[in-house]
Amino acid sequence: AVPTSIVVGGGRAAELGVLFRRGEALQELKTISTVVVDKTGTVTKGRPELTDLQAADGFGEDEVLALVASVEAQSEHPIAEAIVKGAEARRLTLPQAKNFQSVTGYGIEAEVDGRQVSVGADRFMEKLGLSVGQFADVAASLGDEGKTPIYAAVDGRLAGVLAVADPVKASSREAIKALEDMGVDVVMVTGDNRRTAEAVARQVGIDKVVAEVLPEGKVKAIHELRQAGRRLAFVGDGINDAPALAEADIGIAIGTGTDIAIESADVVLVGGELTGVVSAIGMSRAVMKNIK
Ligand code: ADP
Ligand code: MG
Repeated sequence: AVPTSIVVGGGRAAELGVLFRRGEALQELKTISTVVVDKTGTVTKGRPELTDLQAADGFGEDEVLALVASVEAQSEHPIAEAIVKGAEARRLTLPQAKNFQSVTGYGIEAEVDGRQVSVGADRFMEKLGLSVGQFADVAASLGDEGKTPIYAAVDGRLAGVLAVADPVKASSREAIKALEDMGVDVVMVTGDNRRTAEAVARQVGIDKVVAEVLPEGKVKAIHELRQAGRRLAFVGDGINDAPALAEADIGIAIGTGTDIAIESADVVLVGGELTGVVSAIGMSRAVMKNIK
């Protein structure tokens, strides 16, 4: 009876857009007590838009945006596309950036027209020895609106702050509610800043947030929860989520995510919606009941 039920589960799973890359995951899902979700691209659409731009004294807005977008044109982060599109909307000319480097979890840098341009989170500016204090109030209110502040430095001077907003997926809130109703705890982890993360979490009804973590930090958070005796699934979409997907009891990739995330996962949500996690756990509980 066991194999039949699992095959049935598998057929039903395909209908629901849940793909099992590791067969045992179907049995194991029912034991999950905590679901840890990545923010960008998992809870949110992962298609941010440029919403705000403020230049520091001595810099022009278009000047800052053109320099930043030239560097972002070489990056694959969802933030990059938002900024490049924002520059295109203003019809700015983007010079070719040289010596591009990505510093995972912090930001990116390159040389543009002989100027050294760095773009990223506040901690990236701090790493470069720059204070973002002059933008503290602006950044705080951007964060409270669920927007992500991005800082730019040019030749060792803080040049401005930009913001991108990434709307939540329509079904995220419903999925979180369903998981909580099933007795499953939901925790959000993200590399994004605390205020932004908490604003997004509020929008979808998540009350546990681990923010401002590097990719290793996601693994650490999962490791700690597991040590506390939780059986957990991690849901993510990005290159930076691959280690966490491997560390969790069950790794669940968003099907519209990166290949690396999908290859690191046990389960793939083809439709890309968090409601797929609800179906997957529900199915596991149902199938296991049939087998017994
Ligand atoms: P997550 O996908 O969990 O939000 P990441 O580790 O990809 O986290 O990014 C963490 C932070 O690093 C971002 O919120 C952003 O502030 C900064 N960052 C990363 N890549 C870029 C980029 N291409 N441009 C600007 N900032 C970036
Ligand atoms: Mg992500």
